[in-house]
Amino acid sequence: MRPVTITTQGALGKSSIREANERLVHTMILRGRGIGRKQISRQSGLSASAVTMIVERLMKQGLVREEPVEGHSGLGRRPTALRVVPESRLAIGVEITPFEGTVALADLEGHIVEQRVTEASQDPVRFLGAVHEGVRELATVAAERLLGVGVSITGVVEPGTGRVLAAPNLHWHNVDAIPVLRGGLNTRFAWDNNSNLSALAERWFDLSASKRLDNFVFVTLRSGLGTGVMVDGRLVQGATHRAGEFGHMVLYPDGRPCVCGNRGCWEEYASDRALYRRYRDAGGDPKLGSLDIASAAAAGDRRAGEAMDETARDLGLGLVNIIMGLNPSAIVLDDFAAAGWARIRATVWDVLRERVRDYWLSGVDVFPSAHAAHSSLAGAVALVLHRYFTHVTGD
Ligand SMILES: [Zn+2]
Repeated sequence: MRPVTITTQGALGKSSIREANERLVHTMILRGRGIGRKQISRQSGLSASAVTMIVERLMKQGLVREEPVEGHSGLGRRPTALRVVPESRLAIGVEITPFEGTVALADLEGHIVEQRVTEASQDPVRFLGAVHEGVRELATVAAERLLGVGVSITGVVEPGTGRVLAAPNLHWHNVDAIPVLRGGLNTRFAWDNNSNLSALAERWFDLSASKRLDNFVFVTLRSGLGTGVMVDGRLVQGATHRAGEFGHMVLYPDGRPCVCGNRGCWEEYASDRALYRRYRDAGGDPKLGSLDIASAAAAGDRRAGEAMDETARDLGLGLVNIIMGLNPSAIVLDDFAAAGWARIRATVWDVLRERVRDYWLSGVDVFPSAHAAHSSLAGAVALVLHRYFTHVTGD
């Protein structure tokens, strides 16, 4: 199991230590799915009696339940398995894209309980105000079980304030989004850009024991192309929190103009926008979105298939640069690349093998996100859960 890092501000007082240990045990039960007290004691270094006391407290709060282990027929006390009560605490995830605003209420395991979708409008304040109504409704449903609200925005987001400094795909500049989304609600808000949150979701909800997601790059292809870069288990933010804009690295110097003002950016050739343009230019149905084009390709539509293959080649080209620069153990893809992975896998790997020597390529895994087109919404939920389980509020 991956170790848990608890973040605190300043020295720990008595109640903070108690809270930190409680979070540690709660996290181990969440991740352990049926873990026993003895195992918790062994893995955490807490004494057996301390674990028992903490488990009692968690059960009293309705956060954890205990059930007999199936099929045990040995002598002595029957062992029990501990599990979280998923709906005992809830998180709200908000995803703002150029197309729509989605608000989801999810449980501790990330399952969506209820969802509201608002169509995007030109005026950011009106759009965010409509999304706020969804947040308010779901906050009322969650009531005292609500841990907080996580917000995913496609663009450059100022960490301290949540101000959207630039979101070219939304045509937003300096939009103070969080106060409008909060609208007087008395709950904790947290935010980040969509690619970082997609990376966080992939790692947070990956319950496998492997360490493969300590160094990886999540490539979001929805509404542009962004990356969330995880190095040694931490998201790379950069000096002014703008890191990860690989979508705007130049792939073709004299190429197509990009929304960022430059030319020939990777985003213009490998994003959903690029796929859509290629399909439409080849005479494809302009009403189909990127996921529909992936489905049409799988169903044998020649135009859709060719658009997918061409986009996959350029996707692979950009990945060459990322692999050479960051030495990741994994690249995770969402949107059409996840939906159409069966088709484009061979093309992407052909480009990688052609251009990257084995020495650099061995050990790199490329695979579709477990959350497919909903990766950043899952990330907004993961942000709230991550904070709850790993931050201690203190004395
Ligand atoms: Zn660009």
